[in-house]
Amino acid sequence: MPPLPPNEAERLAALRDLRILDTAPEAHFDAVCSTAATLFAVPIALITLIDSERQWFKAKCGIAADGTPRDIAFCTYAILSDDVLVVEDATTDPRFAHSPLVTGEHAVRFYVGAPLVLRSGIRLGTLCLVDTKPRTFSELQIVQLQGLARIVVAHIELHRARIAAESALEERIRSVTLIKASEERYRTAHAKLEQTTDLLRLAQEAAGAGIWQWSLDSDVVQNSSESAHMLGFDCGSGSTDWIDISTAQWAARVHPDDLPLVHAAHTAALRDGSNYKVEYRVRRPEGSVGYRWLMSFGRIIRDEATGEALQIVGLDLDVTERRTTQDALIQSERRLRTSEERLALALDSGSDGLWDWNVATGQVWYSDRWYTMFGYEPGEVEAHINTCMGLTHPDDLEQTLALVAEHFEERSATYASERRMRTKSGDYTWVLSRGRVVSRDPQGTPLRMVGTYIDISERKASEHRIAYMARHDALTGLPNRTVFYEHLEHRLAEVRRGRGQAALLCLDLDRFKSVNDTLGHPAGDQLLCQIATRLRANICDGDVVVRLGGDEFAIIVSHVDHVHQVSSLAQRMIDAVGQPLDLRGHLVTVGVSIGIALSPSNGDTAETLFKNADLALYRAKEAARDSYRFYEAGMDAAIETRMQLELEMREAIMCGSFAMHYQPGLRLSDHRIVGFEALMRWPHPTRGMIAPGAFIPLAEETGLIVSLGSWALQEACREAAAWPGHLRIAVNVSAVQFQQPGLEESVISALRTSGLPPHRLVLEITESVLVQDAEAVIARLHRLKSFGVRIALDDFGTGYSSLSYLRRFPFDSIKIDRSFVSEIDDPGAAAIVRAVVGIAKQLGATVTAEGVETEHQLEQVGLEGCTDIQGYFISCPMPADDTKAFIKENLFTGTQADLRDIHPNQTKDTISSERLAGCPRRDPRSARSGAQCGRDPAAQSGRTQAGDHGSH
Ligand code: C2E
Ligand code: CA
Ligand code: CA
Repeated sequence: MPPLPPNEAERLAALRDLRILDTAPEAHFDAVCSTAATLFAVPIALITLIDSERQWFKAKCGIAADGTPRDIAFCTYAILSDDVLVVEDATTDPRFAHSPLVTGEHAVRFYVGAPLVLRSGIRLGTLCLVDTKPRTFSELQIVQLQGLARIVVAHIELHRARIAAESALEERIRSVTLIKASEERYRTAHAKLEQTTDLLRLAQEAAGAGIWQWSLDSDVVQNSSESAHMLGFDCGSGSTDWIDISTAQWAARVHPDDLPLVHAAHTAALRDGSNYKVEYRVRRPEGSVGYRWLMSFGRIIRDEATGEALQIVGLDLDVTERRTTQDALIQSERRLRTSEERLALALDSGSDGLWDWNVATGQVWYSDRWYTMFGYEPGEVEAHINTCMGLTHPDDLEQTLALVAEHFEERSATYASERRMRTKSGDYTWVLSRGRVVSRDPQGTPLRMVGTYIDISERKASEHRIAYMARHDALTGLPNRTVFYEHLEHRLAEVRRGRGQAALLCLDLDRFKSVNDTLGHPAGDQLLCQIATRLRANICDGDVVVRLGGDEFAIIVSHVDHVHQVSSLAQRMIDAVGQPLDLRGHLVTVGVSIGIALSPSNGDTAETLFKNADLALYRAKEAARDSYRFYEAGMDAAIETRMQLELEMREAIMCGSFAMHYQPGLRLSDHRIVGFEALMRWPHPTRGMIAPGAFIPLAEETGLIVSLGSWALQEACREAAAWPGHLRIAVNVSAVQFQQPGLEESVISALRTSGLPPHRLVLEITESVLVQDAEAVIARLHRLKSFGVRIALDDFGTGYSSLSYLRRFPFDSIKIDRSFVSEIDDPGAAAIVRAVVGIAKQLGATVTAEGVETEHQLEQVGLEGCTDIQGYFISCPMPADDTKAFIKENLFTGTQADLRDIHPNQTKDTISSERLAGCPRRDPRSARSGAQCGRDPAAQSGRTQAGDHGSH
């Protein structure tokens, strides 16, 4: 048998009196149940009433049954005390472990019941939660559940009040019947009034009401002592006399807000002749506070004959208790609505913390998550708007308040502010607070505002990261160009206003590329990071170091007192960079070249300063590794031209504005033209024809040589493919181009697209190619040779002049540099030529004498054993069309061409001499010969090469 509460009989009586058992479902009780189920996320929530043998569910959610036997009910235990009964796991609780509710099919594992305690202390039943899984229930949840239970109790009290009101109504009907009866009598005789009032008195006694009568011709109302008492007049207890109260006295006691209401009721009743009923408040007697509620019924008594209103008789009931309960109910309903709103908000917005601000009092309700978001226990800080503002970061406060004001003044539909809030640990975290005013007074003053908090710290962190990335170099973490330029502009603006001097240093690492190529990019990256660290370590506060890209850095020295200060900084940087670096076990050293420009002396805009520092850097690099140079006036001229040229060269490559000229080569044994050498030209729109000497080195420096070289191959092969099949085409391959990958591919592609047989292509390489990585070079040469291509060693004798190379690779031909040819009368030069010829013979290679300009030279080189010649004596390089004509008209139109055909000493006049009109060979005695056709000093420096055919 389950235990019973000590006041069980009284309890059951109270329950019966309530007349609530087995009543129909009521929406407000159901609403509490569903709110509880949602709020605590349980499948079942119930409002139970414990009857003698059963528990009956006044409201339920998540269950079909109407109740259970009392002896197995958890609630039977829950009503034993005022505390909430929490059973986190019923299987471990000896009271319930064997209950059929626990062992049964849809077994209960979790139960929480808050007793429903009436004001009298009676515990009628519970508001309880049930789950089929064990779970925990926090202290705070207990408090919340108790809150909901109080709402249920308020509804029950209301129910009781309603029942009381119903009884009162029954009484009233009785009273009114009595009034009616008295009225009957009143109609017949005024004298019977006394009797009527007696009857009224009777009614009053029965209903606990006060009665009164007001003769409308006077200002005085006669009140029974109860009525006077209700109106707050003390007239001694037990008085049965009528007490006169003036209408003014009466009005003074009525709540000012309600007075118009009562007057209106009187006026309407007098006009319509009806009865009236009005509820109004009257001040309690002097010495006590507040008002009591009266329910007042009135009836107009008229003169039967005239219909004139003579009197109003009335009856007052004190309904304060009912009204209070009603107010409480409205309040609790409002609270319920509030929590429902909050709940809806929480569910809708997926937000983190909720708040509900009573604007007038400053009190704020915060959800648990709101507290925990800032590291607090729920309730740990005061739930007040000041707390919230106090936690706001001082820098964000002003804006927050402005946003609130904006919303208060209805200038924004919703309020939203992103701000930092201090957490318990003292750190700040980013939140997004949103909300809106949900009620205002008639003047529009906000009364209540609700909203949410979302933790946006992660988003802010990534925004911050993005902002950081936008201003820093991803690899080294140094500020990036944007920051650098901002700083530079700012500082230069100051300099322009006469505030001191600044310096800009441009740094370029030496040997970085080879580290990158040999150790790989990760090592290269590591190197850049370490260098960045060293640079940063050597600058002063206020100075900025930046990586401009690749292995280029720059430094702003913000305040320069003396130039010496900058040069010592530059030297410090050179020393620091020059220290060995450990890259994954590899010890590496790199160097740095530095160009320096000072402001204002070398410029006061970022642009000029950069340009000048760059020029100085150029010079530093030219001069020596690991050196620095200050900008000097005039430094720019040459370099600027060069830079301009580079720019134009890029454009020319893109537009395909380069051209190929062709210079014939002659075999001495039979005086036949065996082929042509392709020589590149740049027809420049303003500078005329530019010779390769003026742009090939630059193309090599800038890497443009790779695309330029492969274009040359394509173009030359394409052209040669149209020539007679025995003519070869020689194409120059620069040393830089030879080092780059892709040469084989571009050779193959040139042959394939042109259809030129490989044996007709000669690749001319210089000795400088061979000194670099001989093994790799030789391997590459073999590969190229394996395609069937011929390889010529160009400019032999100029550079490294190592005869040993000749033994290491079987060149097809050797071209002796024209410096030997021009000095062929010098015995030393002649001896070298003879030696080369000797080696070449052993190798089976031909030997070409380059730059043969005179007949004498031709004879001499022939005597020394050269097999072929090339030079102005035969022809200058010609444009493609002229070359075609040259081939067609002079040499290969059926009859065998002969040197004599074109040699000026021959008297035979041939077409060839026409073709070669303008070429100095026609007058070999002319001192202008070489200069006109070939490369005079002007041509070498890049100016128009006037001698070429194409430029005529
Ligand atoms: P190179 O390979 O030694 O070419 C021979 C140079 O001697 C050519 O100069 C030619 O015009 C010049 N020349 C020919 N006969 C005579 C003569 O009798 N007297 C004098 N004084 N010079 C003569 P150019 O055309 O100015 O070319 C200069 C250099 O530019 C070439 O020297 C070659 O190294 C390079 N070059 C030309 N075209 C190309 C090319 O397409 N690719 C590469 N990588 N280099 C090229
Ligand atoms: Ca050549
Ligand atoms: Ca040459």
